[in-house]
Amino acid sequence: MRASQFHLFTLKEAPSDAEVVSQKLMLRAGMIRKVAAGIYNYMPMGLRSIRKVEAIIRDELDRAGAMEVVMPIVQPAELWQETGRWDKMGPEMLRFKDRHDRDFAMQPTSEEVVTDIARQELKSYRQLPKNFYQIQTKFRDERRPRFGVMRGREFVMKDAYSFDRDAEAAGRSYDNMYATYCRIFDRIGLEYRAVAADTGAIGGDRSHEFQVIADTGEDAIVYCPDSDYAANIELAEALALQAVRGEARVALEKTPTPGKATCADVADLLQVGLDTTVKSLVLASDETDDKGEVVKTTLWLLLVRGDHSLNEVKAGKIEGLGSDFRFATETEIIEHFGCKPGYLGPIGLRKPVRVVADRSVANMADFICGANEEDFHYTGVNWGRDLPEPDFVADIRNVVEGDPSPDGKGVLAIQRGIEVGHVFYLGNKYSKAMNASFLDIDGKPKHFEMGCYGIGVTRIIGAAIEQNHDERGIIWPAAIAPFEVVICGVGWGKSELVRDEATRLYETLKSAGIDVILDDRDERPGVMFADWELIGVPHRVTIGDRGLKEGMVEYQTRRDGEQHKLAPADIAAHVI
Ligand code: ATP
Ligand code: MG
Ligand code: MG
Ligand code: MG
Repeated sequence: MRASQFHLFTLKEAPSDAEVVSQKLMLRAGMIRKVAAGIYNYMPMGLRSIRKVEAIIRDELDRAGAMEVVMPIVQPAELWQETGRWDKMGPEMLRFKDRHDRDFAMQPTSEEVVTDIARQELKSYRQLPKNFYQIQTKFRDERRPRFGVMRGREFVMKDAYSFDRDAEAAGRSYDNMYATYCRIFDRIGLEYRAVAADTGAIGGDRSHEFQVIADTGEDAIVYCPDSDYAANIELAEALALQAVRGEARVALEKTPTPGKATCADVADLLQVGLDTTVKSLVLASDETDDKGEVVKTTLWLLLVRGDHSLNEVKAGKIEGLGSDFRFATETEIIEHFGCKPGYLGPIGLRKPVRVVADRSVANMADFICGANEEDFHYTGVNWGRDLPEPDFVADIRNVVEGDPSPDGKGVLAIQRGIEVGHVFYLGNKYSKAMNASFLDIDGKPKHFEMGCYGIGVTRIIGAAIEQNHDERGIIWPAAIAPFEVVICGVGWGKSELVRDEATRLYETLKSAGIDVILDDRDERPGVMFADWELIGVPHRVTIGDRGLKEGMVEYQTRRDGEQHKLAPADIAAHVI
């Protein structure tokens, strides 16, 4: 590639709404251009890196026996209704109607469509195991798209789905994908950690996230530096909650229990709330005197297990929660937890409850009944723009750092991470719901045992930059750099010698299979160097008349910046 023909467009300053370094550098290097919130053009420079990530993923998945397919971005509601997720997905799923008034969604993921493929195509145990994957556009209407491609609304994901005869075989498929993911992230050149993640309703220990270590990560990882133990934020929360539960217990024991014995029931709820999705609510219970005057109000952090809606909680439908509880007022909460008006981030929790201002307890309850639950229940990434985010990592750190690790091999530490991949054993949740079965060896129909495996292709680009940059720009891991080598011709317009030598070296490297760009723009060296340092090309060769007189060219790597004088013939050996 010649720079004069390539679309190279760098910026001195990043747009003012860019928040994190990867986003700023991708915009400045001309890799992406914003079209709308969380929606980007992938420009030629950016697409080159994206394609390299895709190629590595493809290569490793093909090698692992997976098969590439492409499933539609636009998916019919009927399939999503079969699993009940049409109603469950919430506003993250973008929905629309076609001209015949039929419902469709933009795919946020593809379990339904791939299960539909399986039930039509896989009839016998002889066809198993199978793993279908795609590298495809996803759309998730994230409440707060940010950080450029790291949390986009439209983004590229590799999603794979395995189909097996039984749980044991599904375990082998899972292990195969786990190992494949390690190879993929090793080849890309990322510093990462595979961490245990919550398996939710499925249970078991087969869910892992692949987290790229970076201070700007939205996730937190709890790990033990002296062993293999590592868990993600949700499990970390569970740990933090255990500590919180200890405190809550003490408080519960001190409270006089009215006839309905609900406090003890809340304690039970606190216990069961730890191993799965947890929602937190703040409730208050009042102690009254003989005349019915409130003499003391106790606030409860109520952790509700599973998928109960706030309305259910409010209506007392959850076992153990009686009528002597009410939702706490904002003032009570602010006083008790010492938090900022408008939001509550209870001890060690990433999922705060938003407290609606200027509503009394009574009409807050009304509000909850009538309101969209989304408006009330906020998650960690959805903080209002007007308020700083709580440092949930610090919160959890207070609670768990230095505690003994669950494997007993050391103490826990915390670091931030970016989730770039996720492997998940699904069991027969989807195959059962969609009646996807095959005939087993005994001639009887069985539901497939499934697994799903995602990689955030475009997020990887951002994560790699978060990990590899300096004040001048990006420092690419060579495997995903838009170009591996740049040859800068100094005095291009004036010197035929420079043009000849640079072009000759360019042709030599190209025919050796090296991804090289020749800077033939006739720019001043300072301009060329600033561009390529910003873009982050790993190897730079500078060719000018002065060096050529001694038969030398200048060679420099982006990472260490050391300059070496080399004969042109020796360059190839350095850059391979
Ligand atoms: P997150 O917790 O960051 O919202 P997720 O757990 O919802 O991610 P998965 O459903 O596990 O995401 O999807 C698989 C992968 O897709 C993730 O590991 C991540 O790398 C990527 N991904 C998910 N959401 C986004 C997004 N909004 N923008 C870019 N990549 C994303
Ligand atoms: Mg998500
Ligand atoms: Mg996640
Ligand atoms: Mg995930």
